[in-house]
Amino acid sequence: MHARSLPVMIIRMSSASLITDLAAASRILAAHGVVDSFGHVSLRHPERAGRYLMSRAVAPALVTPDDIMEYDLDSNPVNADGRSSFLERFIHGEIYKARPDIQSVVHSHSPSVIPFGLVRVPLEAMFHNAAFIAKGVPVFDIREKFGSTDMLVSSREKGAALASVLGSKDVVLMRAHGSAACGGTLQRAVFRAVYTEVNARIQHWTMALSSGEGMAVLNADEGRLADDVNQNAAMRAWELWRSQVRAQVNW
Ligand SMILES: [Zn+2]
Repeated sequence: MHARSLPVMIIRMSSASLITDLAAASRILAAHGVVDSFGHVSLRHPERAGRYLMSRAVAPALVTPDDIMEYDLDSNPVNADGRSSFLERFIHGEIYKARPDIQSVVHSHSPSVIPFGLVRVPLEAMFHNAAFIAKGVPVFDIREKFGSTDMLVSSREKGAALASVLGSKDVVLMRAHGSAACGGTLQRAVFRAVYTEVNARIQHWTMALSSGEGMAVLNADEGRLADDVNQNAAMRAWELWRSQVRAQVNW
């Protein structure tokens, strides 16, 4: 399928199926150890680009379609109805503002990734499924603009600073905190979040074997070529992961 046809496909899908897919994405990320009691996934509203959808503040493995709320891009809830919001929702709103091409964002504290935000060793693309990493993965250090904080991206200003460090990349690390992975579809953002964690694990193993010397990682051209193919790989993975959620719940 050509990349440019995907947003059209999303708009044609019913809102109900998008909402159930977003709830399923939360459970998929939990099943892969990307999110635990914390972390969240969002989807830009398919018909109103100035809005996004995300669950109320609840552990990702427990999300149901009834938990999905709508936000404006300043991350104000528009249909809270007594439900509470994630403190770090500004990560999502500010990335959607800065990057019109992004339709979905995952924020997580997945453990294998965190060391790469603490040291000067860059996260690199260890294998084809993680080709998007070959573009480079910047590190957001909240200290640079905000000094000592509780580390949370809990305001529009902090979200905007994070989005500016993300720039044109697909993943951004957050020093001593976690990361955010983005995609042009929900499926690609989930795929990238899962494979950012897997890639980090493989990089730890590879560096233990090689002491970090001479790792034959994907170069930028290989990354671009493999990332094009991963459009289909993300859909194959999604079909499997979505069916596993469907086996546990009736939506
Ligand atoms: Zn966080």
